[in-house]
Amino acid sequence: MKYISTRGQVSPTGFIDAILMGLADDGGLLVPKHIPQLSDDTLKQWQKLTYPELALEVFSLYVNNEIPRADLKKLVDDSYATFRHEDVTPVRRLDNGRYVLELFHGPTFAFKDVALQFLGNLYSYVSRKTNSIIHILGATSGDTGASAIEGVRGKEGIRICILHPHQKVSKVQELQMTTVNDANVLNLAVEGTFDDCQRIIKELFADVSFKHRYHLRAINSINIARILAQTVYYFYAYFQVANKEHADKISFSVPTGNFGDIFAGYLAQRMGLPIHKLILATNENNILARFVNEGVYQPGAFRGTYSPSMDIQVASNFERYLFYLYGEDADTVTSLMAQFKAEGRIVITGDVLKRVQADFSAYSVENEECLNTISAYYEKYSYLLDPHTACGAAASDKLAAEGEVTVVLSTAHPAKFDEAIRLRNISQTYPEQIQALFDKPQIQTVVGGSNEEIKKQLVTFFN
Ligand SMILES: *Cc1c(COP(=O)(O)O)cnc(C)c1O
Repeated sequence: MKYISTRGQVSPTGFIDAILMGLADDGGLLVPKHIPQLSDDTLKQWQKLTYPELALEVFSLYVNNEIPRADLKKLVDDSYATFRHEDVTPVRRLDNGRYVLELFHGPTFAFKDVALQFLGNLYSYVSRKTNSIIHILGATSGDTGASAIEGVRGKEGIRICILHPHQKVSKVQELQMTTVNDANVLNLAVEGTFDDCQRIIKELFADVSFKHRYHLRAINSINIARILAQTVYYFYAYFQVANKEHADKISFSVPTGNFGDIFAGYLAQRMGLPIHKLILATNENNILARFVNEGVYQPGAFRGTYSPSMDIQVASNFERYLFYLYGEDADTVTSLMAQFKAEGRIVITGDVLKRVQADFSAYSVENEECLNTISAYYEKYSYLLDPHTACGAAASDKLAAEGEVTVVLSTAHPAKFDEAIRLRNISQTYPEQIQALFDKPQIQTVVGGSNEEIKKQLVTFFN
């Protein structure tokens, strides 16, 4: 399998180069040259597989022979052995036709572990094969950082530095990052906002001599390996639910920020998984819901919400969808993205908008509605949703037809967002792994927001 850019200016590259490249060199995003098409027979065979077996089959289609199958199998097995549940991503039935896909059984209790456990092992594999050190630099509003650190801590050939806004992530998120004491991890707590952290990272990656000298690599959600890892649980959940319900019309509701998770669902559908509907749930930062419902892609004012991992105005994976929406036409994508840069918006009408609305339905969830949903599910099903998952549940309640089988993706364990849940006077007991964090010493360096100061920290750490 080769990978091409949504803007068409990168010569087709192999899987490993695509992973290392992150953002395509022409500013676009990498996508597979052809989407593998699954026959009914293959889908039938896949129904019997365990999660790691299924993941191996999916990755095999996209990796081809670049990684020998035995090596790939070990990477996959190691990545999912760290999950606390034997199904890796179990499906819970709440009610008639109402399911929750629990994606939070990995080391940091958030769905990002599904992709980042794998990406961490993959980076470590590449480092061994190429005999080079990989330096990972990233910014986080909370979940990605903890998950990326867990993915690579203690691994040879890799060093990771994560910037987070000082005291602006949830307490559990902060502890998950800063109680890690492996020598290959550096936590920089930046006096500023998440946007400041992202700006610094962007500027350091744009400093080409610095980037090349230290082989800087990214871990953000535009990495194609993350998308591929996330397609696996759509297949897995679909098979489990289809089996229980004897139904074939199954929809998924996805709490969405950067469009990575729901794009993975779209890709699974394009591969041949007969997903009925993809429901796109946003919080009050609803650029994507407005795009689906009105055809206008235009950032609004930033809103702080109870689901901070979805507080996103410009969705970094959106360009991948545009590419497929316009029949894999890189020229159209290039001109639309240029228009977005110049005018700050993209407007879609007519038949194209109809296609968008055939691919997705969308709903944006207000802050009160998010908390109401947490309360309602807690009372009705004795099931505690985290605020991100609650957005998915609210959207599915709004948009799924009566009796329609719907799977809500649960992207985080409620313990990670206790601050919001306590607002509804619901008290929870933390899982022991989270409780234990409160007794561990924290290791982090608090820094100001200047690039020079951060560069200095990095140079010391990398040398
Ligand atoms: C990252 C994240 C999301 C959003 O996922 P995208 O792939 O960015 O759409 C939703 N919920 C939680 C808990 C997350 O950490």
